[in-house]
Amino acid sequence: MIEIKSLSKVYGQFRALDDVSLFVEEGEFIALLGPSGCGKTTLLRSIAGFVQPDGGSISISGRSMLGQPPNKRPVNTVFQNYALFPHYSVANNVAFGPRRQRLPVQEIKQRVQEALTAVGMSDFASRFPSQLSGGQQQRVALARAIVNRPKVLLLDEPLGALDLKLRKQLQLELSKLHKTLGITFIFVTHDQEEALVMADRVAVMSRGKILQLGKPDEIYDHPSSRYVASFVGESTLLRCDVGQDGRVVLEANGAVLPAQLAGIWRNGQSLMIRPENIAVGPAVGPDETAVEGVVASVAFLGSTRRVHLELANREVAIVDIPGTGPKPELGQALTVHWHGAKATFVSD
Ligand code: ATP
Repeated sequence: MIEIKSLSKVYGQFRALDDVSLFVEEGEFIALLGPSGCGKTTLLRSIAGFVQPDGGSISISGRSMLGQPPNKRPVNTVFQNYALFPHYSVANNVAFGPRRQRLPVQEIKQRVQEALTAVGMSDFASRFPSQLSGGQQQRVALARAIVNRPKVLLLDEPLGALDLKLRKQLQLELSKLHKTLGITFIFVTHDQEEALVMADRVAVMSRGKILQLGKPDEIYDHPSSRYVASFVGESTLLRCDVGQDGRVVLEANGAVLPAQLAGIWRNGQSLMIRPENIAVGPAVGPDETAVEGVVASVAFLGSTRRVHLELANREVAIVDIPGTGPKPELGQALTVHWHGAKATFVSD
């Protein structure tokens, strides 16, 4: 439904978008995920029409958007700072778009009611923004966008200003709303958990490029690069090499990798294992691999403790151990292992 091809945007010498292509299906929920300054907002604003790209194309439902002003595009944007009109009631804030379209009064009323019900704010229609909490204001901002029935809803860190509890609650509500409305959502966030929880597909961005686009479990289980592996969740990343006998070994301790893994290794790739897939103790059997390290830090996460082990070659292994057992001492030597089926390779 949305076809973005080879999009670029340059500010002076700086490439904010560098040859970005992205195809979005109708009704999909796409998260644009990346650190501050990677180009997420520039991409979103290009789709909205607030930024003019220097090259490439954007089309929605087969229609080219280049040269179209924002109000001529079938999209609506919800920003982080809700920007409600302070002197309008909730109902009048939501009615603003339909009134500008000069829809019949009865239809405006009905649409406003529907939009407020969808975001759980129908009891607040006559309140003013100053009489609402942050989360309630953000819901009204959402209602104000969906009341226009856009084909595409662009959301620029809409939950960024909320506290963690409210943020998690609204994440669930937004996911539900997405399913009931059937609108295509493009959601900008720098919070990897938020992206994985909510989106159908996640586009991981860095330095103006999309590095990987995939379903949340694909991104988490099979990140395409070291960068994606470290940005999305924590992981142990171990460099590999070819040993004297031609077998693939870990650089850290020369441990030979199981044949199945070794068979798919490409020169320059590192082995990646998620913390929950590593356990304390030596390797048992040919499919397991172990490393020994020194405890460098222990973080209490509630049901687990996350331990960082420094290996002889200064690489770090990250392992989750049960929170109930004895706490490892800093400086203590610890051997950990994992099964080959739980490991994957990533490129530099
Ligand atoms: P954040 O999460 O901090 O909002 P982002 O990934 O959304 O970051 P963008 O706002 O897209 O990043 O900005 C990408 C880069 O382009 C940044 O380095 C930014 O400084 C630069 N940039 C954005 N707008 C302009 C502008 N109008 N003039 C010059 N540089 C700009």
